[in-house]
Amino acid sequence: MVQINIENVTKKFEKKNKVTMALQHINLDIDSGEFFGILGSSGSGKTTLMRIIAGLEIPTEGTVSFDQKPVSKDNKIITEVEDRNIGMVFQNWALYPHLTNFENIAFPLRIMRLKESAVNRRVKEIAELLDISEVLNKHPKEASGGQQQRVAYARALVKNPALLLLDEPFSNLDATIKDVARKYTKELQNILGFTAIIVSHDPADIFSLSRQVGVINKSLIMQTGKPIDVFTDPVSIEVARSTGEYNTILVNVKENGLRYNLSVGNMLNMDIDISKVKKSDTIEYPAGEVLLGFRPSDVIVIPSDMAGSSDLPRGFKECGEAEVAISSYYQGSFRVTLSFKDSSESFFCFHNTPLQPGEKVNIYLNPDLIHLFNAK
Ligand code: ADP
Ligand code: MG
Repeated sequence: MVQINIENVTKKFEKKNKVTMALQHINLDIDSGEFFGILGSSGSGKTTLMRIIAGLEIPTEGTVSFDQKPVSKDNKIITEVEDRNIGMVFQNWALYPHLTNFENIAFPLRIMRLKESAVNRRVKEIAELLDISEVLNKHPKEASGGQQQRVAYARALVKNPALLLLDEPFSNLDATIKDVARKYTKELQNILGFTAIIVSHDPADIFSLSRQVGVINKSLIMQTGKPIDVFTDPVSIEVARSTGEYNTILVNVKENGLRYNLSVGNMLNMDIDISKVKKSDTIEYPAGEVLLGFRPSDVIVIPSDMAGSSDLPRGFKECGEAEVAISSYYQGSFRVTLSFKDSSESFFCFHNTPLQPGEKVNIYLNPDLIHLFNAK
């Protein structure tokens, strides 16, 4: 296990006359034994950050330290990749097709010039742990996707690394195998005790594994914290959207003493307590128009002709009416898109019974579960 500190790391790629800022002023502190997840869309800088931590890429500025000792600093590598005691698993697994799975896993030990008996013992041990003993004599292509992935894990872990770097490791797996892979990733950490960093664009990968997460967007870390805090209190719309499905509606805001009134025409009308509302970093005194944000799971809709007949969860208040635009079956319930009369604003949510297009519904929101952002 190893502690990782990333201090003010910037990475600039310069090619001919094109400059790309892949990372800007990244600061991250990752405890020894932590499972740290970095979530961000394609092109946000995730792979570059992993390669910098691995020592495959040099930071243009800033310092990367392992257990408080700098391993890269200000455009210089201090500790080379092979001396960093890390294992890596990438999206395409990068197995050597001409080698057997045994030799793929043994590869890092061959570089160390370990004795044949030691190589044998170690490869068999890790293969047993990953349940791939029966494919050791086959080539990667002859094994299933799930097995190939475990061969990649075995190769990454065969030297008992202090740090495991996982770059979109599940992207090539079917949905059912993905869940299994996430589960054994966690188990491997418990058994072998390494620090782990995973990067992915998929919130399910990050949230199922990580104890701490960072959200990266366009080369900047926008927020770090516990998964639940980042999910429920995103500091920006970008964080809200990259952590899961999210609605934003442009609303008019009026300050009225100690309350804000939010409205969309006369279809949505919500009074909220100024002291309680969660505002993003960049919004201090909302005025005029703001974006009202909420998760689809944090809004309730009830057909208007049935409204008032059912109990609502605590904190939810009626705040207007909308019309069903689209309703489609989705994983055991219905995914419903709703629109407001005389407005182009819309949102979506889930409902346990089918709703008909054109049907009127009452909307219920909980002021504790909404956020306000600047209207751009
Ligand atoms: P992600 O893994 O989040 O998709 P990357 O770290 O691969 O993002 O890329 C971040 C940005 O840096 C992108 O704009 C990408 O085109 C650029 N980039 C990455 N590697 C290089 C490179 N070797 N040369 C030039 N630009 C690069
Ligand atoms: Mg990448």
